[in-house]
Amino acid sequence: MTPHKLPLANLPTPLFRHPQLDRLVGAEVWVKRDDMTGGVETGNKIRKLEYLLADAKAQGATSVVTCGGVQSNHCRATAILARNLGMSSVLLLRHGDLGAEPAPIGNLLLDRLVGADIRLISPAQYADRDTLMGEVAAERAGQGETTYVIPEGGSNGLGALGYVDAVQELADQLSAGQGPGPVGFDAIAFACGSGGTAAGVALGLGRHPVAKGAIAFAVCDDRAYFDARVSAIIAEARTIDGSLPAPAPLSIEDRFKGPAYGLASPEQTEFIVQVARAAGLIVDPVYSGKALFGLAHLPDKPARVCFVHTGGHPGLLAQPDTFRF
Ligand SMILES: *Cc1c(COP(=O)(O)O)cnc(C)c1O
Repeated sequence: MTPHKLPLANLPTPLFRHPQLDRLVGAEVWVKRDDMTGGVETGNKIRKLEYLLADAKAQGATSVVTCGGVQSNHCRATAILARNLGMSSVLLLRHGDLGAEPAPIGNLLLDRLVGADIRLISPAQYADRDTLMGEVAAERAGQGETTYVIPEGGSNGLGALGYVDAVQELADQLSAGQGPGPVGFDAIAFACGSGGTAAGVALGLGRHPVAKGAIAFAVCDDRAYFDARVSAIIAEARTIDGSLPAPAPLSIEDRFKGPAYGLASPEQTEFIVQVARAAGLIVDPVYSGKALFGLAHLPDKPARVCFVHTGGHPGLLAQPDTFRF
């Protein structure tokens, strides 16, 4: 049985075609605009949070705790949607230099605006994030709060179901004659940060074969890490929804991560500018820009691709120094 979900996202998201983009990427590209799933809370995380926050509510949670980088899109979406539903949030945000306050811009500005309880932690502490989140939940239980723990990126079996549904949505759009129609795609491509989107898309394609496979562009960590991580999420999702078939082929591409998580190379930055100027499509330097750059530079490029634009604009706005002209 499929678990209950809350209708938090603005769906279906449109399927856009930018002929100018084809030239830059070197393929026929259809953009699934998951950067338009909502208002300021927008992006790929809402699809996962539809399931996770429904579960939180069903368990009587009065607050949620989650974690991510200091400019985490996932934390921002969670903090805003928790408030929408009358809950508070605690965010464990990874920050390289605990001696210096992070600039209160982009996602962090929005986290603060909705009054999230922000706790900065070091990268070393972040390695123990699941333990730390459990401690926060225990601490808040002492204060009469029931706190629901959402893993990094909302990426567990339950959250991944949001992307199984996204593939169903895409299949419905194709049957209705949108996009390239019933011929479908050679591949679905997107950025990969915590693996939940990749797991959900691979499972969704197992059920609705609208593409031959999925290509997940890692923005951090390597292929071995994500192969293990995504397999674990897929296994968990299949225990939650026993009707899910085996996943479609998923290729984790880790050659386009750039210099570090959150940092784009000069070539990637230049590509983001070209895409913005050629097509008016805004992709960010942390996720979607690296993935689209990767697609454009892939040696064996699929001919017809659905690129899932996963959002991330607040992160771009937090990097004015990356884009100096
Ligand atoms: C979180 C995020 C991703 C990665 O999705 P995962 O499911 O965490 O792999 C991609 N793009 C953006 C903009 C994100 O915020």
